[in-house]
Amino acid sequence: MRYERPDTMKAATKLLAKEKGRAFVLAGGTDLLVRMRTGFVEPDLIIDIKGISATRAIEKNGGGFRIGAAVSGAELGEHAALKKAWPGVVEAANLIGSKQVQGRATMVGNLCNASPAADSVPALVAAKAKVVVVGRNSRRKVPVEEIPTGPGKTSLKKGEIVESLILPKRPPKSGDAYLRFIPRTEMDIAVVGVGVSLTLGKGGVVKDARVALGAVGPTVIVVPDAAKAIIGTKMDGKAMNALAEACSAACRPIDDKRGTKEFRTKVAGVLARRAAQIARQRAGGK
Ligand SMILES: Cc1cc2nc3c(=O)[nH]c(=O)nc-3n(C[C@H](O)[C@H](O)[C@H](O)COP(=O)(O)OP(=O)(O)OC[C@H]3O[C@@H](n4cnc5c(N)ncnc54)[C@H](O)[C@@H]3O)c2cc1C
Repeated sequence: MRYERPDTMKAATKLLAKEKGRAFVLAGGTDLLVRMRTGFVEPDLIIDIKGISATRAIEKNGGGFRIGAAVSGAELGEHAALKKAWPGVVEAANLIGSKQVQGRATMVGNLCNASPAADSVPALVAAKAKVVVVGRNSRRKVPVEEIPTGPGKTSLKKGEIVESLILPKRPPKSGDAYLRFIPRTEMDIAVVGVGVSLTLGKGGVVKDARVALGAVGPTVIVVPDAAKAIIGTKMDGKAMNALAEACSAACRPIDDKRGTKEFRTKVAGVLARRAAQIARQRAGGK
């Protein structure tokens, strides 16, 4: 097994494209190293991207943010402007693992690992985040929800690396939130996760909204009917019931030791309601 630590994306994509065996990008390693230790993967080549400056920074970008693919959860949590603009995205990333894991784990690693229960992904999808995907001779921007295609599978082609995440500019009076249910208080895998992002208009009426569910399908589920249920309302009881029902109806969960299909379906509605209320408060709504 070879370990390489290139200092440019060009060198990294060249190494990846040329490799005949199994090649893996290493960001924080909190998924990859565990999978190697347990014998699930045996890489021929590991490309550590932490030496590439483009993957290490959080920058303002056209009113939004550009977050390098190797930025850790701890670094996100210490970035005041990012936390102010996208508290839901940062709280989702900061739910991953423990203090030790936070020092390494990245949102892009969470996305590319393609677990249906990945915590940061529903929040990123609700935020309409995109990733910049770089190949040997290509560069494209892809909505986050188009990266995972099923458990452990992504749409990335051979030789491609995610360089960064793009969070869009926030209109005034916007807020987001992420909530998950886990059987323990921390260090567990989401049974259900819900990301909500919304913008309020005149009189506190919801102008725009996006709702995304995690751990209740093979990939994150965007629920347009849940957004429609609250857009044009002040999130009164009827609208909130409709939001919860739309989320439950969209679930396609499995039964496992953490939760039954019925439990996951019900909890998706309950969490969506709570996350939407938090997002509304953060947007300045009463
Ligand atoms: C103790 C523990 C607790 C955990 N708790 C949680 C939790 O609560 N919630 C949760 O969602 N996850 C949890 N995880 C899983 C893991 O920490 C997260 O998925 C984390 O975000 C992965 O990020 P990473 O940078 O460490 O990824 P890595 O392990 O470096 O990479 C993960 C995968 O993505 C690929 N990859 C990484 N970066 C790129 C890139 N830039 N371009 C292309 N491919 C790339 C890698 O090749 C690999 O296949 C936990 C893990 C541990 C060990």
